Amino acid sequence: MESNYSVCTIDKCTGCAACANICNHNAIEMCYGEEGFLFPHIDKIKCVDCGLCKITCPANNPVSLYKEPIGVYSGWSKDDNVRMRSASGGAFAEIASFFIKHYNAVVFGVAMNQNLDAVHVSIEKIEDLYRLQGSKYIQSHIGDAYRQTLYFLQRGRFVLFSGTPCQIGGLRKFLKKDYETLFTIDLICHGVPSKRIFIDYIKYIEGKLGHRVRDIKFREKKCSWIFFNIAVNEQAGISNKNIYEYEGGYFEDPFIRAFLRDNILRPSCYQCQYTKTKRTADYTLADWWGYAGNSRMDKDFEQKGVSLIFCNTHKSFSLIKNMNILLRQRTLTEALETNKSLQYPFVMPSTRKEFWSDYSVLNFSQIVDKWFYCEKLLPSTYIKYKYRPSMMRKILLKFAHLYEKCQKLI
Ligand SMILES: Cc1cc2nc3c(=O)[nH]c(=O)nc-3n(C[C@H](O)[C@H](O)[C@H](O)COP(=O)(O)OP(=O)(O)OC[C@H]3O[C@@H](n4cnc5c(N)ncnc54)[C@H](O)[C@@H]3O)c2cc1C
Ligand code: SF4
Ligand code: SF4
Ligand code: SF4
Repeated sequence: MESNYSVCTIDKCTGCAACANICNHNAIEMCYGEEGFLFPHIDKIKCVDCGLCKITCPANNPVSLYKEPIGVYSGWSKDDNVRMRSASGGAFAEIASFFIKHYNAVVFGVAMNQNLDAVHVSIEKIEDLYRLQGSKYIQSHIGDAYRQTLYFLQRGRFVLFSGTPCQIGGLRKFLKKDYETLFTIDLICHGVPSKRIFIDYIKYIEGKLGHRVRDIKFREKKCSWIFFNIAVNEQAGISNKNIYEYEGGYFEDPFIRAFLRDNILRPSCYQCQYTKTKRTADYTLADWWGYAGNSRMDKDFEQKGVSLIFCNTHKSFSLIKNMNILLRQRTLTEALETNKSLQYPFVMPSTRKEFWSDYSVLNFSQIVDKWFYCEKLLPSTYIKYKYRPSMMRKILLKFAHLYEKCQKLI
């Protein structure tokens, strides 16, 4: 059962948990529904029917958006270690370090715990930043992070809060007003995949490895930034040392394919109100897809990653140039060319219903064969996927393109 009482309609509910945080009677708990997404569950005994949750819910009363970005940049951390640990160019970690160093800020973001749950946590030391680095491609539990944020703000602390746009929308509706000492970061968001499928995927990998998995990195970059590489380990914390027991990129790993093929996204993601150039946070971060490197400084970008960075408010814009980020000024038109989620949500596949009805009867391997199979690879794609940029790769790519032309594959 998704919920016993609705705060908003189920297809619009983003799972942001603003309702659970605002309820003074602690009557709302976020629980997993059938497909593995979090929904509010109201305890009718505790509920006094005050209506606060409904008014606060951003699906009922959308949060006001900022104007078009003031600053648009591609960029990356000047520190290679920071950049390699991050999903794209490491902009998040540099922004967070700056706020901790200069404003003694509390930073909220998403960490993976040992049960492989993505959870919103706060940190106050640069040494702990690694926990928040890297995308976790499942929806995080907000817990009481909005209440904690209010607690810190009321005591005059600086807070940097990061999350999906709907979570930033949830935070802002919960807080009701702007705070000078609050800075927010949202991501350009493809949508969040089902936790149920993630759990079954982990069991599937555990079956292959013959032991438990306690550690996962969704965007490992030893070879490539562009092909999404998942890496897992038995012991927690090992992946930060670049040691993996299993790794698989888009062409090997079923979860990444499942995520990018869209049948497993949360229903609200197909009608997301945040897929716009007008944003809900002070900073917006994403991958700068389609980056065309043409200088010496760009030579490693395919492996190390490039961030898209928007400054959406004057206060965020005034600080960005002081951070340890190699910035290049870009235009909004350039950003729009490569990031569809700035214009419209991903369309719900016409096969979504069929997929979920299969999911209730087939086992995970059968699902992988039928739904998450790997499409045929062009030789040139395989070369880009397997080899790091080098002279050898350039030569191989030339031959591959020639072959594909002769075979009329391109
Ligand atoms: C579910 C999801 C979908 C995304 N979809 C797109 C997309 O369609 N296009 C695109 O260009 N970029 C997308 N991104 C953003 C991208 O993957 C990077 O997170 C972003 O570029 C920031 O990278 P970074 O190198 O600056 O920092 P990183 O260190 O990689 O970023 C970490 C930041 O992401 C936050 N974060 C991590 N996991 C989650 C989560 N589950 N929920 C909320 N916040 C989280 C952390 O709190 C932290 O702020 C998505 C991210 C997520 C989590
Ligand atoms: S506040 Fe968020 S979690 Fe609660 S009903 Fe609205 S969208 Fe769903
Ligand atoms: S109506 Fe009021 S008491 Fe009931 S769940 Fe909503 S906020 Fe809580
Ligand atoms: S696509 Fe929209 S609704 Fe879905 S998780 Fe992202 S911001 Fe939230």
